[in-house]
Amino acid sequence: PPSVYVLGVRVDRLTRRQVVASLEHIIALARSSQDPLPCQQIITVNPEFVMAAQRNTLFRQCINQAALVMADGIGIVLAARYLRQPTPERVTGVDTLVDLAHLCASHSYRLYLLGAAPGIAEEAAQRLLNLAPGLMIAGTYAGSPAPAEEDEIIERIRTSQADVLCVAYGAPAQDLWIQRNLSRLPVAVAMGVGGSFDFLTG
Ligand code: UDP
Repeated sequence: PPSVYVLGVRVDRLTRRQVVASLEHIIALARSSQDPLPCQQIITVNPEFVMAAQRNTLFRQCINQAALVMADGIGIVLAARYLRQPTPERVTGVDTLVDLAHLCASHSYRLYLLGAAPGIAEEAAQRLLNLAPGLMIAGTYAGSPAPAEEDEIIERIRTSQADVLCVAYGAPAQDLWIQRNLSRLPVAVAMGVGGSFDFLTG
């Protein structure tokens, strides 16, 4: 997709609908492939991400190499407009999480919710199920972004047979966690969702 770079940070110029279509395509491709395809990383960039990425090179590279980068916040939309490479609309993490829930429900894809405080992911799963009846929750787990827990968490995700993973460890921890484990994440797509589980349950 055409992208704009805001202070060196990539943002794809996509509508919410185009993001959904793109996610649908990525997951369908992974599901129909004989050999497992590498997991695709999804990031929603807000102004705080852009600021953090100025000093954190690893985070900036992580964003710029992601499969999809959405404009999460009016600040990003305005910056893109100022650069005369406008992005059509704001696409937030919560919006995308809800869209993913609908997408999973309509295609029988399995959604895994990782992160947030104990019990919150379960509650968020219930909210998403209310919004998208028939949604299959592959699993929920709080865990932590500590590297010592990674093997165990990835084993849980593998066992769950999830197709889509949403990680709520806050930025940049969640996005770096996904990137670090991308080559062995047993899902089609993984997205950092920040405080989205809290937002849904709040
Ligand atoms: N979180 C977590 N483990 C951590 C740090 C954060 O599970 O070690 C969760 C926290 O409970 C919250 C989310 O990560 O649900 C971060 O939310 P925040 O609003 O800070 O993230 P942002 O949206 O600003 O990226």
